[in-house]
Amino acid sequence: MGGVALLGVPLDENSSFLRGPAEGPARIREALRSPSANMACEDGRELDREPRFVDRGDLALGTGEQAIEQIRAGALERLRAGEALLSLGGDHSIVAPLVRAHAELHGPLTILHVDAHPDLYDALDGNPRSHGSPFARIMEEGLAQRLVQVGIRTLNAHQAEQAERFGVEIVDMRSFDPRADLRLEGPLYVSLDLDALDPAFVPGVSHHEPGGLTTREAIGIVQRLPADALVGADVVELNPTRDANGVTAMVAAKLVKELASKLLG
Ligand code: MN
Ligand code: MN
Repeated sequence: MGGVALLGVPLDENSSFLRGPAEGPARIREALRSPSANMACEDGRELDREPRFVDRGDLALGTGEQAIEQIRAGALERLRAGEALLSLGGDHSIVAPLVRAHAELHGPLTILHVDAHPDLYDALDGNPRSHGSPFARIMEEGLAQRLVQVGIRTLNAHQAEQAERFGVEIVDMRSFDPRADLRLEGPLYVSLDLDALDPAFVPGVSHHEPGGLTTREAIGIVQRLPADALVGADVVELNPTRDANGVTAMVAAKLVKELASKLLG
């Protein structure tokens, strides 16, 4: 296979509560290259010695529906060039066009969605592109053969109804078992919203939802992914305006490193 490309998607206009995640890609890159750490993954792979690991910079984005379409087209261009994408958000609205691009190339996907929130609102504050709605769009468009959600702890009646309607498999936080076998088969896309982790570990997110995953549990989820099935991933919702000493950016960079090593196979 070709390389694995970092792709920044600096869009936060579909956030329902706070802006800030548009600065996420820059802060994650900074954390990745921080002299306080190195580029070694836990399996021993050193990303700075890996010629197949490349950085394609940030997508140039307009606003509204145009930005969403630019994300789909920009991602598809890289996928058609033979690269696997590790996209950096941005708020979670970016996952809908990223999944459109991946499904265009690979067909309907198995999606592992790690998040405190199911993001299944039909629309939030009247916005169907809201970061609270991308998985409703994905399911309506038939882009996923399976949607498995892990870390969920905010399921309200409307979203429970949506989950039922779309056949979403929800592993809620109350019953989360780090060793459970999710039987994930390819083509597998992983979308990791940082607020799945407990806010004690990731203060730099827009929605602090207590009772989440530990950093170690999130790393474990990534390390247990079947590498041969994985076709793409994103890490979203870093909000640097709320970060403390850049620790959330470092957690994001750590998860990016572990995902990159999986994608490199
Ligand atoms: Mn989300
Ligand atoms: Mn979330």
